[in-house]
Amino acid sequence: MNDEKSIEALRTALELSPENVPLRIHLSDVLVRLRQYEDAESLLRIGLGKDPDNLTMKLSLAETFRAQDKINEAMVLVESLVGERNPDANALLLHAKLLLHTGDERHAAQQYRSAIDANGDLVDDTLSEQLGIFPDREWSNEDAEQRDWAAREHAGDVPDRVETTFEFERPEISFEDVGGMDALKDEIRMKIIHPLTHPEIYEAYGKKIGGGILLYGPPGCGKTHLARATAGQVKAKFMSVGIHQILDMWIGNSEKQLHALFDQARRNRPCVLFFDEVDALGASRADMKTSGSRHLINQFLSELDGVSASNEGVLILAATNAPWHLDSAFRRPGRFDRVLFVPPPDQEARSAILDILLAGKPTDRVDTRLLAKKTEGLSGADLKAVVDIAIEAKLRAAMQEGIPKPLVTKDLQKANGQVKPSTAEWFSTAKNYAMFSNQGGAYDDILDYLKLR
Ligand code: ATP
Repeated sequence: MNDEKSIEALRTALELSPENVPLRIHLSDVLVRLRQYEDAESLLRIGLGKDPDNLTMKLSLAETFRAQDKINEAMVLVESLVGERNPDANALLLHAKLLLHTGDERHAAQQYRSAIDANGDLVDDTLSEQLGIFPDREWSNEDAEQRDWAAREHAGDVPDRVETTFEFERPEISFEDVGGMDALKDEIRMKIIHPLTHPEIYEAYGKKIGGGILLYGPPGCGKTHLARATAGQVKAKFMSVGIHQILDMWIGNSEKQLHALFDQARRNRPCVLFFDEVDALGASRADMKTSGSRHLINQFLSELDGVSASNEGVLILAATNAPWHLDSAFRRPGRFDRVLFVPPPDQEARSAILDILLAGKPTDRVDTRLLAKKTEGLSGADLKAVVDIAIEAKLRAAMQEGIPKPLVTKDLQKANGQVKPSTAEWFSTAKNYAMFSNQGGAYDDILDYLKLR
């Protein structure tokens, strides 16, 4: 039977039995294979109209979106699936592919690992190659490592399994080096800096000290920069910990590592402990498959609560680009009870950031106010890219002509033409969460920023 005939036969069969989900999915698969995407999409939408919670049809619809390069639509749908308790392994796999497509390799690797942990049959050679994840090899290495530890422990060769690899910095930047963000700086002062410098006043007002601040927003808008500057502002040490660093440590040892990390921070007070990509931890709690990992999350929460030792003098900040993936347990009082939106810089902030980025560079009357007007939508990181590109071009010219010349406004304008705002993609995802799952007004700041309220 040729394709058209077989499609017709399948359609007739489906008309007679519209509730037959496997048949509907089979027909949509055939349509996708023949690149009749719109037909496949509408077939699945009709099916989901009848059975809105059907996971297989949702996955097929997401695949259909992906095939049409409608990455945002696919992402929103898949995120709703992986955000559930015990997400389906196929949904995790598709999420990994979509994340890789958007360039978020780290998160893609995490989802891919979860997918193949849940279902070993889903190992995908192309994806393994792209993400550098080879489960067979890793598992055998891990086994070997575990055997090695056991042997050394047995021989009394291992005094303590805790080996912290975290290092403190002493940042030389302060709030002055952060352009804009005045309201955020104020919040940080009130919530974590003043309690550290004037504990007696807080006590007098009966205000409990403790808890951390969670910063969220599009990438490159200065969350890490602000955390580092917070440490510099109070001359405290600073330690940045990527949650993946903790998750990657093998189970069992990682709980001890986490405890050692907090201990190390308490011994080095005052210090700022900054957790990046904290959503990777929060998202995992509900769907943890191994009890070891669940313990790790609970350990993290009790360290935050300061159960085993006081966190006085340890300022805790965390950042995420995906606050919607964070378990609500993290937001309880005493944990990350202040959640602050870090938006892209406004015009004034862009001008301040450009001034900061150009300080100490050879310039000639650069009009940063004018540039700020022309760089709407750019993040701090995008602005840094503009400055870097302009400097590179200037260097190249200096090499060719043998005469170094200072940067002028035009150089930066030219470089600006080569940099695209990197925040748009984030807002297209965030908008959906802000509009459709804005419990308790959690994302009102996003709606305000987008002027949707
Ligand atoms: P991600 O979510 O990708 O980790 P982020 O929000 O943590 O991003 P940063 O890494 O802090 O962003 O910002 C990238 C760079 O952009 C910083 O190293 C800094 O040079 C510059 N930058 C961003 N915002 C500001 C700002 N407000 N003032 C000065 N520089 C800034």
